[in-house]
Formats: sequence, structure tokens, C-alpha cells
Amino acid sequence: MAEDYYKILGLEKSASPDEIKKAYRRLAHQHHPDKGGDNKKFQKISEAYRILSDNEKRRQYDQFGPAFDNMSGQGGFSGFSDFDFGSFWEQAQQQGSNWSGFGFENLGDIFDEFFGGRRARKQDIKRGEDIQMDIEIDLEETLSSQKRVFSVYKNEVCERCGGSGAEPGTRLKECQTCRGNGQVQEIRKTIFGTITHYTVCPACQGEGNAPERACNVCKGEGRIKREKDIEVAVPAGVDSGQVLKFRGEGEAGKRGGSAGDLYVRVFIRRHKIFDRKGDDLFAEIPVLFSQMALGDDVAAPVLEKGKKVFLKIPSGTEPGKVFRISGKGIPRFSGYGRGDLYVKTRVDTPKRLTRKQKELLNRLKEEGV
Ligand SMILES: [Zn+2]
Ligand SMILES: [Zn+2]
Repeated sequence: MAEDYYKILGLEKSASPDEIKKAYRRLAHQHHPDKGGDNKKFQKISEAYRILSDNEKRRQYDQFGPAFDNMSGQGGFSGFSDFDFGSFWEQAQQQGSNWSGFGFENLGDIFDEFFGGRRARKQDIKRGEDIQMDIEIDLEETLSSQKRVFSVYKNEVCERCGGSGAEPGTRLKECQTCRGNGQVQEIRKTIFGTITHYTVCPACQGEGNAPERACNVCKGEGRIKREKDIEVAVPAGVDSGQVLKFRGEGEAGKRGGSAGDLYVRVFIRRHKIFDRKGDDLFAEIPVLFSQMALGDDVAAPVLEKGKKVFLKIPSGTEPGKVFRISGKGIPRFSGYGRGDLYVKTRVDTPKRLTRKQKELLNRLKEEGV
């Protein structure tokens, strides 16, 4: 089951924005890690609030959540029931074809929401890096949600020290660099006077302390690079250039800092038969001149492998006529239903004729057809 954000906040689906805000304040206060609360629980509450407090995201969640539940109910993807479906709402449409247009600088905002002032900076410096990767999928794979497993060489929480960076059994001591302040002063003399600038201490990442002996395995960083299989779900209806965000699947943070996110940019391979525009598909089918003239039921391909639909061609159809087959396009990425399939008829002039065909065509010619 996907996370039920309403349940996390103890609310009904019909909750008003005001009720959502109140529930969040109460629970965030109760579970705040600074007050000894469970950080995991607090993150969940914050995530639920982030989605439900945003009208657009809430609407998508209300619509989209049940769709995913149905899918797993059909026995398709039992393996990732714990997957954070909330990540999908984070998908961002990429304008161009490279990463530079994508707004990574906004990601820090999330932390400003959670923590105030100095704490936020400390989190930033400890936070793991984001990972970006590209995947290529077939057009057919956009018909349903696809489970994908990538092998990524990335920082994972060090098992020996559990991410603390301290050799097990060792105590913490005051950081030498910042003398326990967690920040270092930088004094610069300018023509306007002396400017004092504070930055997070690079030696202790703002913790103010350091282990007496650094962990043997991670050398005090609390994380270590290794090969890891990451399992993600690429949602149905995804389009080329779209970027999917998977929260917390990036590099592990330093000394217990939060993990970065994984961004997956999707490319869709060209299809032999179908062109895609938005949710619609376009294809061309060869039809015989006699079928055009007399009318017939003609088989048209659909994106589902091995399947086809029958198209009623009325008598007297002109070559190049386009028929719309509704609901046989691509599933809509956010919303229900599918786009349409447009089939254009084409007449191929026969190159090699049998004696009988020649005879018949000659008779048609004599008849003025
Ligand atoms: Zn320090
Ligand atoms: Zn370690």
C-alpha cells in the first residue's frame, strides 16, 4: 500500500486546509527530533503535510494514489509495496535536453521548512549528494508502471559505525577546529571595515564534536561507497525528457545526515510503428485500393504487443484519411484514462502482379475505375 498521508496526519479525506495545517502543527511539535521525537515519524508527517498543503499536489495524490493501489492489486508489482509513491508528485518536466535547466537550487527549501536557522545549514552540509541518471525505455513500457532495478556505485551508511563516523566504543570529544561551536569565523578586512563571516565547521560538519577515534572503515565520514541495487517504479504514461524524483535514494549523508535524492531522466526509444505526441499515438496503415473503394474492416495495430483493433473503412474512402480510435493512446501520466490513437490510411501501389491480377486490373481500366 502507498503511504496514506491523511492517516499519518489523523485526518479524513475531506479535511479542510485549515484542519491540515492544525494537525501538522500539533504532530510536528509532538514528534520533533529536537524534542526527542522519532525523526522517521517526523519526516513522514512533514512529507504528508508537504503534499496535502499544496492544492495541486493534493489533487494529484487524491487522484493518483488509488490508481497505484489498483495496479498492485492486479498482481503486477508485489515487490515494491513499501515504495514511497509520494516521490512521483515530485516529477518535473524537463524543458530542454540537458540537466542545466532543472531547478536543483530549490531543494534546500525543504530543509528550511523543517528546521530553522543554524540547524538548516548543518543539515545542508551533512546531506548526501543527489544522483542523476538517464534511462531508456520502450514506448510499450509506458502502458503500465515498470519496476526497474539499477546498480549504482554510491555512498551508503557505514555499517561499522552506523553512520556516526566514530570507531565503535570510542567517545566523542570537542572538535579542535571550531572548539565545539560547530561553526568557524572568517574575518575579512575590507575598506569598509572588518566583516565577520560564519560558516559551518568543515571538520565536524557543524556537530561541534568529533569522535576520539575515527571509524576504521569510513575514516570518520559515516558513509562508504559501494555497489547498491536501487529499485524504482517508472510510472505509466511517462514521456521523454521527464525527470522522476526518488526521495532519499541518492548518496547517504555524512555522519548521519539525510540522504540525497535520485533523479531519473526518462528517454523513450523510437517506435517502428507509432509516433507519440502527448498522450496520443499516430500510425499509418496500408489499405488496398479495393478496400478503400468498397469499404471493409481493416486491422490496425495497437501499442499492446500482439493485439490489434478493427477499423471500419467506409466505401469511397480517400487515401490519407485519418481515423481516430479513442482510448488506445498512452495512459495519462496524472489522471485517468488514455489518449487516442490516430490511424492514417495509405495505399501502396502493387509492384508485382500475377497474370490474374493484371487481367482484373485491365478489366477495371476498361470499366473506367
Ligand atoms: Zn568543528
Ligand atoms: Zn564508519
